[in-house]
Amino acid sequence: MQTTSKQLFNVEAIRADFPILNRKVNGQPLVYFDNAATSQTPQQVIDCIVDYYSNYNANIHRGVHSLSQIATDAYEKARQKVQQHFNAKHAHEIILTSGTTHSINLVANGYAKFITEEDEILVSAMEHHSNIVPWQMLCEKTGAKLKVIPMNENGMLEIDQFEAMLTNKTKLVFVNHVSNALGSINPIKHIIAKTHEVGAKILVDGAQAAPHLKADVQDLDVDYYTVSAHKICGPTGVGMLYGKEALLEELPPYQGGGEMIAEVTFEKTTYAGLPHKFEAGTPNIAGGIAFGEALDYMNTIGFDVIAAYEHELLDYATAQLNTIEGVRIFGAKPEQKTAVISFNIEGIHPYDMGTLLDKMGIAVRTGHHCAQPIMNFYKIPGTVRASFSFYNTKTEIDRFVEGVKKAKSMLL
Ligand code: PMP
Repeated sequence: MQTTSKQLFNVEAIRADFPILNRKVNGQPLVYFDNAATSQTPQQVIDCIVDYYSNYNANIHRGVHSLSQIATDAYEKARQKVQQHFNAKHAHEIILTSGTTHSINLVANGYAKFITEEDEILVSAMEHHSNIVPWQMLCEKTGAKLKVIPMNENGMLEIDQFEAMLTNKTKLVFVNHVSNALGSINPIKHIIAKTHEVGAKILVDGAQAAPHLKADVQDLDVDYYTVSAHKICGPTGVGMLYGKEALLEELPPYQGGGEMIAEVTFEKTTYAGLPHKFEAGTPNIAGGIAFGEALDYMNTIGFDVIAAYEHELLDYATAQLNTIEGVRIFGAKPEQKTAVISFNIEGIHPYDMGTLLDKMGIAVRTGHHCAQPIMNFYKIPGTVRASFSFYNTKTEIDRFVEGVKKAKSMLL
């Protein structure tokens, strides 16, 4: 599928790449609006995984035999694709992990060496639990204080208050690029610059940004950036941690084992250089290679084209949904967010709405979306979240809106 402009965007041709979109769920054609939880996988990426296991399955970095060398080359080529996509300066600044959760834990664990009880760690009020709990664990270990950057009713961070919280005690800042529960796009370039003014380091969780926009880690000057491949048309169980070379050099390894050593004796072990210091054990080889293929797939379509089309879907769905009486959409305005609508209908529990939509073949996410502090902020048990991808259509949105109306009439 080749598209160069909005006019040339052919969603039917793109949909043909995704076999799962042809299936029925509960007797109805699938409408998949749970893309923020995990995206679907195009045939090209599925083929890439099948090709690895059918033709060159072998362990990497250690064999002199041909298959091992082919697999190693493919894996390292995938790392270079990830490097190019995020514009990292060096391929060894890309650590291939099992995903965002692993990436964040790797950094949080390493900072136990540098953090003391005098220090403060700032985390935003709109983080996924993956970007809260590891820092709480770090604070428990070190005695450092965790402070929360507040958000407002519009689902945006209070940047003035963030700036006022920064002091010479601040050592680390954690914020997501895009909120998974609300879709808000945070002004991370500004947040990064302000963090650096007090000499602190910053990790940006890019899990929800990566499907919709292309982050340039050098332009952002971000210290650490994390991504999961399964949200960008790749397989589960693989992702990346980007870190600036100098920071990764001083960060201690997270796990010990094979692949991450230079030399082992019972007296002393020396560690391998980057990126292998952080890649103990046999990695998800097929997954890593397929991660590269997924980025190729999305870049062939083009992120500008993807963002423009998804925004069309978002505007259309927002307008349709707002015609339903009792609907409340949480968070940012469409122009400040990615293609996510988090909403409730007055008097209806999100779980009941999600269950009835599922009976109609429509997959949405319901609940707190692993972001309980946001739900506490709005004083609600959860929301219904419809999240769109470039392979969704306005026809599917029509079915979804009809479904919400039907469920409402059944539940009220
Ligand atoms: N951060 C954000 C913003 C997310 O949306 C998610 C996944 N829902 C994660 C972190 C965790 O990603 P993973 O489960 O792939 O490690």
